[in-house]
Amino acid sequence: MIIGIDDTDSNEGMCTTYLGALLLEELKTCGTVETFPLLIRLNPTIPYKTRGNAAVALRIKTGCPEKVIAHVLSRIEALARMECEKTNPGAVFILEKDYEKLRPVLRNFLEKAVRDVIEIQDAKNLISEYGISSKGFKNGRGLIGALAACGAMLNLEVWEHTFEHLAYRQKERWGTPREIEKESFFEADRKTYPETWDTVDLKNRLIVCVPHSADPVLFGIRGENPIIVSEAASLIRAEPVERSAVYRTNQGTDMHLLPAVNLAEIQDMHSYRLEGTVSAVPKTIPGGHVIFPIRDTEGNGIDCAAFEPTKNFRLLIRKLRPGDKVALSGSVNSGTLNIEKIEIKTLAPLYKEENPKCPSCGKNMKSSGQAQGFRCKKCGTQAASKIICEIKRDLEAGSYEVPPCARRHLAKPLVREQKSDLKIHPAR
Ligand SMILES: [Zn+2]
Repeated sequence: MIIGIDDTDSNEGMCTTYLGALLLEELKTCGTVETFPLLIRLNPTIPYKTRGNAAVALRIKTGCPEKVIAHVLSRIEALARMECEKTNPGAVFILEKDYEKLRPVLRNFLEKAVRDVIEIQDAKNLISEYGISSKGFKNGRGLIGALAACGAMLNLEVWEHTFEHLAYRQKERWGTPREIEKESFFEADRKTYPETWDTVDLKNRLIVCVPHSADPVLFGIRGENPIIVSEAASLIRAEPVERSAVYRTNQGTDMHLLPAVNLAEIQDMHSYRLEGTVSAVPKTIPGGHVIFPIRDTEGNGIDCAAFEPTKNFRLLIRKLRPGDKVALSGSVNSGTLNIEKIEIKTLAPLYKEENPKCPSCGKNMKSSGQAQGFRCKKCGTQAASKIICEIKRDLEAGSYEVPPCARRHLAKPLVREQKSDLKIHPAR
């Protein structure tokens, strides 16, 4: 059977993946785990999400599904942060006999949960229409992620996946500062990048894979396959690890992005890959955010932003000028695209007027007075007017991304994009 669980965490603690890791061990008495557990990130723009908007699915072979269901529900009741207003757990159980029937239905549901907005009632309707065994706690919002995670498990071959090795803290340490040897994270990164990513942020000298909240996660190493993430994890020196688990995930895949044909169709709470032409010089607004507008060929426009947390990425964005052709990916909220990646396709030529140069000595001519033209004082050569010359742009065409410290879970790092026709500048 497949078990989907979502929304057991709060901003203060717990993590649905920790519950998943516990269940992996505890459910061994009821059957055998068939494949990697899943960690599925849903639409990152949803405002009522808990921290990471992640759901979990497990698949086990069992002869006693009733016992499994009872155990999972009792663990959610015991561990979920029910007191938090935003924590509304959901659990869904798909029996093996229903796999074929539910595969296409839950594939659509998964894609919608990652790219679009689903109401709780939509999830409840689907559950009752297909007679799916489930339990929603409080308002039951977690049923959405739980169904989506089951959909991902039933359709492993239709979505791109990566892996994350999650190490968890001993319970008595939860809420206390994490004891880690920082240098070991840089070492693990040196030895396994680019097959692992977002362990550290080299430019900003930050460790990215260690959370700061009171949850049970000590660190999480993301990478291309289960072997490399565990190899990197084995290089980490830190406080004792209570348990760890390797999850298969949709992180780092761009699964959230919709292609936008034109800018008129852009909606809040969705994420896109879109193209346009920069239509004004980027502005820095209070808070250090950098904003610029783009337009498409039909004249529709949208504001694009590199927010303060994107750090050095903003230096690049400030160099854009009207006429530059760009492709962007990111999420839209309040009518503004939060940039995750930018491909600068062509740079607009930029000109300035200059005094002409003397053809004999090469020095700049001086003005002979208003409307009098220009002359070289030394050689006596003359010219009628200023010349227009192209300014060399301090920017190269190519692909750029926000640094690892600002990356969205779902955003695909450039280092994973193997397109040889692109000039790529990974944020290292
Ligand atoms: Zn001269």
